[in-house]
Amino acid sequence: MGEVAIPPKIQLRSVVKTSNAILTPDKPTTSPKEPPRHTTMHNHNTPPPDDSTTFTRTQPHPAVKTSKNMLSPDNLITLPKAHLHLHFTGSLDLATLAELAQSAHDKAAAELINDGALTVPATVKGWFRFQRTYDLARRVVCTEAAMRRVVQQAARNDAAEGVRRLEIQIDPTSYAPHVGGIIPALEIVLDEAKAAAHATGIQVAVIVAASRMRHPMEARTLARLASKYAGQGSGEVCGFGLSNDEWAGASAEWEGAFRIARAAGLPGVPHGGELRGADHVRQVVTALHPRRIGHGIRAAEDPRLVDELVASQVAFEVCPTSNVQLGIYPRLNAVPLQALLSAGAQIALGADDPLLFHARLNAQYQAAQQDMGCNLAQLAELAASSIRVSFAPDSDKARWLSEVAFWRTAQLASSQSSPPVIARSVSDEAIQKSNY
Ligand SMILES: [Zn+2]
Repeated sequence: MGEVAIPPKIQLRSVVKTSNAILTPDKPTTSPKEPPRHTTMHNHNTPPPDDSTTFTRTQPHPAVKTSKNMLSPDNLITLPKAHLHLHFTGSLDLATLAELAQSAHDKAAAELINDGALTVPATVKGWFRFQRTYDLARRVVCTEAAMRRVVQQAARNDAAEGVRRLEIQIDPTSYAPHVGGIIPALEIVLDEAKAAAHATGIQVAVIVAASRMRHPMEARTLARLASKYAGQGSGEVCGFGLSNDEWAGASAEWEGAFRIARAAGLPGVPHGGELRGADHVRQVVTALHPRRIGHGIRAAEDPRLVDELVASQVAFEVCPTSNVQLGIYPRLNAVPLQALLSAGAQIALGADDPLLFHARLNAQYQAAQQDMGCNLAQLAELAASSIRVSFAPDSDKARWLSEVAFWRTAQLASSQSSPPVIARSVSDEAIQKSNY
């Protein structure tokens, strides 16, 4: 099986990603062992094509600025949706990072806010430098108050984008040293998730994710801990993941942990199919039996595998800006979203780590529209799909799906009676608003 949801710690625009949970240096995310087979991909160690559409902080991808029937960011805010792939520290925005750095009296971390500090050209090789940068950002989440602040802000930011249900992912072992162990670390997050749900009006559930960089026995411990808090609602653990470097370990090593989680009613949501290709997706699915796969986008390299996943009702958590920022695809229009949609895949778009990728959830929908050719009906279907494959109670899903249907009808009617909408690029805006 594969990996699971990983909290990458990344360097912007460069290439590497690691989990929130990891403290040890990761190896490069792409390895010569299994070069990407998709013609539009490039290795992390290979500079992306000299194309102006490649993401950069100083030169955001030039998404289509105007187009008939293109939805504006405001339209996307009104689209009800679920956010199912968001890592804990990676969810931070720059303002909150600055606030936490100040509280922690961490001048070094505060320097990350300065222009350019988190920016590294995608052509620069330097995994360890990036790793250090990410660790620097994470170290401001070093108190109970800081952990609560992360949850609060993630809920607020998602509520502001029309999210009805957030399933935020965390490896509590990364924060345990600051609060006295993994039990209080998880309970703090669950407690705050419930409070944030009450404050924002959205559901905030938690996915506990083990790390591929740690011993599989530790994953079993986490699975047992997660099982004690299993549930579908806010402040409960709704799934079990596996994150970090997809090249670390054989997926079968985590089979026991996922079996423990399933026995407690916790569905699996391991990462796979971003850093590695379709063969690895197959390994992840075979060993871990996930309900959703974190990313899984490179399953598109094997259409027969995609058909099998669709038939097995394994959903995909697709994170386009993550894929581009990590160098998996050279640009957004190379992300094979349409191939998955054509195969009937259930897809939930996700931001992954907006702190490092400079784009939150609605930027993914905007990119799907502007760069991946999704029409209004497909955007509505993506939102509906995200709700269907969430682990929310069925009654809530039904209500939100009705809201999506209403939105679709209203938008279609509007598009037929109104002049073309001038759309702004959410991706670009997200970058600008975050002071990148
Ligand atoms: Zn992830």
